[in-house]
Amino acid sequence: SEELKLLKDHIESFPDFPSPGILFRDIFSVFRNQSASQALHSLLKSYALSLKGQIDVVFAIESRGFLFGPYIGQVLGIPFVPIRKKGKLPGVVERLEYGLEYGTDCIEVQEDGGKVGQKALIVDDLIATGGSLTASCQLLKTLGVEVVECFVIMELADLNGRQKVPSKVVSLLQF
Ligand code: 5GP
Repeated sequence: SEELKLLKDHIESFPDFPSPGILFRDIFSVFRNQSASQALHSLLKSYALSLKGQIDVVFAIESRGFLFGPYIGQVLGIPFVPIRKKGKLPGVVERLEYGLEYGTDCIEVQEDGGKVGQKALIVDDLIATGGSLTASCQLLKTLGVEVVECFVIMELADLNGRQKVPSKVVSLLQF
């Protein structure tokens, strides 16, 4: 669609960031342009409305997922809950430590962020290897929440990250 084209045209790409060989897709560049922002807003709204009645709670991954998760929750009239790196969330949290290519990472969610049996959507800006979404799905399992869908603005399709994620993955744009 026109909106998707407008959106894609305003995502800036940065070679060798944050490390050599990585082509970084910068979602923030969209917000510098009024019509691209509007297109994103409209695409998010249509996507959210297509889920009406199917989701009880929206989770998003630190930090760029926070640009979209609260809006999707608001369109659907359901809560938004953050998933963050270790040590950033107050109150009682569930924690998951998971392996990376080098070392480990740790994510947390507030324990009262979802109830057993609730249906959840997880939002992020981009899926690459699928590691972040896979870990988030695992973390939410400890809450007893059922992840019915993961949503990203951008998918690095060659990396096949969606195959790793134990839930349906929907993307607006593929690179
Ligand atoms: P994955 O865990 O799927 O390998 O990587 C996805 C995570 O890394 C997301 O949280 C995403 O924000 C970040 N990420 C990896 N590559 C890029 C990129 O090219 N652009 C942006 N905006 N984020 C990236």
